[in-house]
Amino acid sequence: MTRTLITGGLVITAADEVHADVLIEHGRVVALAAPGTQEWTADRVIDASQKYVIPGGVDAHTHMELPFGGTFASDTFETGTRAAAWGGTTTIVDFAVQAKGESLQAGLNAWMEKADGNCAIDYAFHMIMSDVNEATLREMPKLIEHGVSSFKLFMAYPGVFYSDDGQILRAMQVAGDTGGLIMMHAENGIAIDVLVEQALVRGETDPRYHGEVRKALLEAEATHRAIQLARVAGSPLYVVHVSAQEAVAELAAARDKGLPVFGETCPQYLFLSTDNLAEPDFEGAKYVCSTPLRPKEHQAALWRGLRTNDLQVVSTDHCPFCFVGQKELGRGDFSKIPNGLPGVENRMDLLHQAVVDGHISRRRWIEIACATPARMFGIYPQKGTIAPGADADVVIYDPHATQVLSAETHHMNVDYSAYEGKTVTGQVETVLSRGEVVVDQRKYVGHAGHGGFVPRGLCQYLG
Ligand SMILES: [Zn+2]
Repeated sequence: MTRTLITGGLVITAADEVHADVLIEHGRVVALAAPGTQEWTADRVIDASQKYVIPGGVDAHTHMELPFGGTFASDTFETGTRAAAWGGTTTIVDFAVQAKGESLQAGLNAWMEKADGNCAIDYAFHMIMSDVNEATLREMPKLIEHGVSSFKLFMAYPGVFYSDDGQILRAMQVAGDTGGLIMMHAENGIAIDVLVEQALVRGETDPRYHGEVRKALLEAEATHRAIQLARVAGSPLYVVHVSAQEAVAELAAARDKGLPVFGETCPQYLFLSTDNLAEPDFEGAKYVCSTPLRPKEHQAALWRGLRTNDLQVVSTDHCPFCFVGQKELGRGDFSKIPNGLPGVENRMDLLHQAVVDGHISRRRWIEIACATPARMFGIYPQKGTIAPGADADVVIYDPHATQVLSAETHHMNVDYSAYEGKTVTGQVETVLSRGEVVVDQRKYVGHAGHGGFVPRGLCQYLG
């Protein structure tokens, strides 16, 4: 088995920054030592001087091949995980979907089959429950045993994924009893659908109205309601893709009370805004996702939340749809634009740019992008850190390189970049997944099928 030695880099984890050599054997990190102090021999030596050595990113929110609005997210598990690797992410947690009338297990089996043999990096699953009933509630503990310990519910999308408050409460009760974690899409979908209908009647059909009808107050209201339901049920709560400052305030208030309430945001809410949604000639459709992009003023609250730990995780909600042929389904009716943005390849770089810009520290970068998502979803310290015993998912990161983000050069299977033309400082150079080099000095050398399913334990912030 190959022994790999990474020498001379600055090893950054959520806890420390130290210059160290890193020894890897049998796919795992076996030791760290002060540079040059050990007589280690290795089959492969990677010189990381002047570079960062960081844990591979853990993206806890992706939707490869998701069926949505009559079409499918354009990245398959094969193309999406390859793009993730290019961007320094070595684990994704995607969402298996329960079809209405089917069991959770059937949904999980279907998604396992989509991923199996196709992934460049390791993957795990959350379970989307689109039909909370006696049978599916009974299945939840069984899924937890199989390493799927988190369940996503929707207060949005009536008639599709929507659960009512009674269903939410019941699922939360089971989660509270069994150690499962409820993930919530917190938007008042019933009220939003009324506003959508009224906007269309007024002839307001452009993409920017998507942002106007999905009001910040309706995100805040749903966030507040989800928190109260979780309190009543005695369950923890993880709110996905928080975008409104009013919703951050609800999370902060809950956490100030000591409640086990967690929040995730995404790069698009930190770097993009309703200005993008308002781009002319239907270009705004590229930025249609839910929760929607908010006016720029909301960004400061998100950054502050990330610094104060009122928000703990940055995931991508990667759910790409091509502009041509997919986003175009909503020309003349914004409500028919498939919801979602590409981003799995850009997250580590954009968050490094946030370090350069002074929004967060280097260690906080690793914490929100690697360590906390791994702990939140029960795969730490196998993933999310560089320490003896951890999987050797390691990125050699050049903090001085600059690059221009563009659809011309990205590896996601989508015909546009949400960050087209943006210059960022920092670039992934080499990526190891369980000790195997998958990106070698900006050449892809990995292969589909290297990535395996990672069964997860329970959320590590509880009990
Ligand atoms: Zn999502």
